[in-house]
Amino acid sequence: MLELEGGVRRVTFPLPLGIDHVHCYLLPGSDGWTAVDAGLGVPGARESWASTLEEVDGSVRRIVVTHFHPDHVGAAADLAELTGARVFQGVEDYAQCVQTWGGDRVLERVPEYLHAHGVPDDEIATFRRESQALGRMVRFAQDPEPLAAGDTVAGWEVLHVPGHADGHLALLRDGVLIAGDALLASITPNVGLYPDSRPDPLADYLSSLELIERLAPRVAYGGHGVAIEDPAGRARELIAHHHDRLEQAAAALGERPQTAYALSYALWPEQLPTALRRFALAEARAHVEYLVLRDEAERSDRDGLVEYSAVS
Ligand SMILES: [Zn+2]
Repeated sequence: MLELEGGVRRVTFPLPLGIDHVHCYLLPGSDGWTAVDAGLGVPGARESWASTLEEVDGSVRRIVVTHFHPDHVGAAADLAELTGARVFQGVEDYAQCVQTWGGDRVLERVPEYLHAHGVPDDEIATFRRESQALGRMVRFAQDPEPLAAGDTVAGWEVLHVPGHADGHLALLRDGVLIAGDALLASITPNVGLYPDSRPDPLADYLSSLELIERLAPRVAYGGHGVAIEDPAGRARELIAHHHDRLEQAAAALGERPQTAYALSYALWPEQLPTALRRFALAEARAHVEYLVLRDEAERSDRDGLVEYSAVS
């Protein structure tokens, strides 16, 4: 555990995913700690939290979930049971959490979307296996307390910073931003268009980055990687990155329609594990749909196959 500015503690857990660790935070308060994110519900997650909590004085009074991705929400139920603390989560985010990980989730939703965008059947089969394994590591807390932009939790202002996830929340106090995955130091947060998500996540994300630039926190602590010492500068860098990416996407489009899967190879030609290729596909869609929504690209849907081309 690492002590940061303002008495904030950072707790890091290893991850068996494409990314090898996740940070959770403990924010000090007059009545005890506020935990931000819970990590993935790997076997032993509860024990890891239990030994972490032994190192701090005082108890965890509440748990804030920044967004429903498995590495952030996965062990929320374990941490809640362990501490007796209430979980706070955005309303939109919780709805997507239930839709993605809940008992009555529609298992064919993602395979259908992958198929429509040109993903080969063998990669869809890999997705099914991986998503089952991942689903076993997500134990989110049922019926959390709703949290929304403008709320205050333990003296921290709640911000809505959509893009990486539609309902992504962050916390700000005294120039310290607990950013979740809305801002990361060394990697570009994935901005993808997924089934049943908001239609223009890239525009959402650019607005979130502009908000961070305006608020200009002194430091930001993200869900992965090192602290961000110049959050406004990092936000500007990411805005420029996405504008470059939009230009690349526009340049990759031609007269002949191509799927978002094919387009993902134009943008990320390197060999990627299938899970990362799915992120690339969703990210390619976020960019090309941004262009479609501004009449700078065309989408066609023929017999359930979605393809994109340059404006004719
Ligand atoms: Zn994450």
